[in-house]
Parts: sequence; structure tokens; C-alpha cells
Amino acid sequence: MTLHFAADAPSFPVVRPSRLDGFVADRSFDKPTLVMDLDLVEAQYRALRAGLGRADIHYAVKANPARQVIARLVDLGSHFDAASKAEIALCLEEGADPSEVSFGNTIKRASDIAWAWDQGITLFAADAEEELEKIADNAPGASVYIRLIVEVSPGDWPLTRKFGCDRDTALRLLDYAKALGLNPVGFSFHVGSQTRQAAMWAPTLDEMAAIWAAAIDAGHALSLLNIGGGFPAFYGEEIDAPTAYAAQVIAMVEARFPNVATIMAEPGRGMVAEAGVIVAEVMLVSRKSDRDMHRWVYLDIGRFSGLAETEGEAIRYQFQTARDGDPMGPCILAGPSCDSVDVLYEKRPVLLPVSLKSGDRVLIRNTGAYTSTYSTVCFNGFPPLDVVVI
Ligand SMILES: *Cc1c(COP(=O)(O)O)cnc(C)c1O
Repeated sequence: MTLHFAADAPSFPVVRPSRLDGFVADRSFDKPTLVMDLDLVEAQYRALRAGLGRADIHYAVKANPARQVIARLVDLGSHFDAASKAEIALCLEEGADPSEVSFGNTIKRASDIAWAWDQGITLFAADAEEELEKIADNAPGASVYIRLIVEVSPGDWPLTRKFGCDRDTALRLLDYAKALGLNPVGFSFHVGSQTRQAAMWAPTLDEMAAIWAAAIDAGHALSLLNIGGGFPAFYGEEIDAPTAYAAQVIAMVEARFPNVATIMAEPGRGMVAEAGVIVAEVMLVSRKSDRDMHRWVYLDIGRFSGLAETEGEAIRYQFQTARDGDPMGPCILAGPSCDSVDVLYEKRPVLLPVSLKSGDRVLIRNTGAYTSTYSTVCFNGFPPLDVVVI
């Protein structure tokens, strides 16, 4: 049994048997394995599609670049936000049309821009003069959108100040793009990943709408607004259901950006997280002393083998074992590697069965996003997270 949200129920998880659980229950795994169910990806695409109205969906490939996931999304009519040459190549190989793939990273290798342009990619992101120069040199005449900085992110996994530029810089970059012979079409931003409720978008949208209005006043004929990602997955805290969430975000966008010709949305986490479960195993349960308040539970997967988003304990995954009917107690949860930062949850311990012991299977729910590619090649000899797609 797994937790899902009914497509349009307000926010309460409903329990229904799943193909994914059946598959996992019937098999043994000799290393940590992410199992992805393509039908759940499809259901989530359809749920987001139903809410996003006229917005184009550009799936953020980095969330889970499994070939079969990309292929299914191509079949469903999704477009793609790619961050690198390899991600673009993957989308094109799986049948995406170049006109449906945007090169959304603001930090691009010049030779990759030239390659992408040659492949027929025409839409690029930028947040700096130098990036515009690279695009003008290697993709002359291309369409560009300027990424705006989000000063205060409401997301659980904010993207901080690394990406985007402020209002004055953005307006200057629109002028500069024109001067370089590029076609500046609009703005993008990212509200912050795992923004749990649609209403949390409002302050960011207000901020972005003011900059949009300033650009129109300055004489720029903008046609594209890229609202980025941020669509949440269920990790135990209440979230809005996908269709209702997306519809509310788009309604807020339409109210603040009247007459914008094209809206793009780039869900990553919200598209794939709930379609995957990691099958892991307990390697050791121990106490450091008789006075130790908490048990230490060591899993065969950790910070370096797929669970990087436990950094700062920002994303709190849900763990499930066959002993969950037994009395529960708090644990510090850690990975298996010989690195002391390989601790998953310590500040806020995790409740696990008191009877838990080495060899027990642990399911880590809703881990289809930002896990498989956040896995080191073989740190300490632990294999990268295996991925099985059903
Ligand atoms: C990572 C990323 C996304 C996806 O973000 P989620 O929060 O996973 O939906 C979308 N757009 C850009 C530009 C990104 O870098």
C-alpha cells in the first residue's frame, strides 16, 4: 500500500494498492534500488496538465533523467527544460522535438550552446552579460529569457542567490540582448523547490509582476513568462493536490501577468518524486552508551548514494518497514559510508520500530526526484543507486 493524493481531493492522502508496491514486495534486491513506476509519472503529468491550463509543461530533466521517464513524457506531449548538452541529447534521442526543449541553465559551456543551436534548440536562459555574449556568438539570433532572482524563497529547498539577477540588471540585460542581435522574449524565475502550498507563490509572483511591468514600460515587447518549478511532493507534511495546486498558481499568474502570450512551467520534483520508492536495508542498529537517548540506525543508503537532499535535514523522507505495527522510538539515521557527514537525520530524529534490526527492509517513499543522479560513482565502494523502471 502506498500514500497517494486523489487527483483533486483537497489534501488528504488516500491509501490504495499500487503496482509499485506489488513489484517491490515480490522481489529481493541486493543493493539500494530506486523503483520508478511510469504509470505514476503519467498520472502526475495528467494531473499537472489538467491544472496548468494553457501553460506549456517543460519537465526539468535533472529531477530524474531515466530514459524511460523521458520517453513516456515525450509520448504524453511534455516539453523539456534541459541543463546541459547531455540532457538535451537525451531528450532528442527519446523523440522530443528541438523546438520543445529549452536550454534553461544560466551557466552554459560555449561549445554546448553552439551544439544545441546546431541541433535546433532556439530558447536559452541567461542572467549575466557574459552569458548573453556566449549565446550571441554561438547561437546568433536565438530567443533568450532573463532569469530573475527570488530574494525570499518560500520553498523547503530554496535555490538561494546562485541563480538570477535583480530588476535593474534584468532590464539592462533585455537591452543588451537586443543590441547583441538576440531576441529577448521574457523572464523566468524559480520560487524554490518543494513550495508546499500554492498560496506561498503570491509574494514571489507580486515581485516578478512588478519587474515585468517595468520591462513593458521600458518598451520591451515581452511574450514569455517561465514560472519554473517548485511543485511539491508529499513527504509527510500537508501539500495541495497537484491539479488544484497548479490551477491556483496559474490563476495567480493570469491575474498578475495579463495578456502574456506564453507561459512555461518546469515541474521536476512534482512530476516524478511520488512515482518512485527506494528499497533499502538496515545494516546496523546500535547505542553508543547505556545513557544514549536514541538508537543509531545505519542504512545501506546515505548522503552519498542518493539521499543528498537530507542536507540540512531539508527534505524529510518517509520510511516504512514491515515492523511498523510494533512500538516506535526515535532514531538517528545514518548512511553506511566512512564519512562523518553521512548522517541523514539527527537534529530531528526519525521514529522507527523499536524491534528494527540489521537485515530488515526499509522503503523510502516518494524518492523519484533528486536521488538517482545525486549518487556518487562508488564512494567507499558502495555502488551508485540502482534504478529499475516499471
Ligand atoms: C531544478 C529546476 C527546476 C525544477 O524544480 P522543481 O522544484 O524540482 O520543480 C525547474 N527549472 C529550473 C530552471 C531548474 O533549475
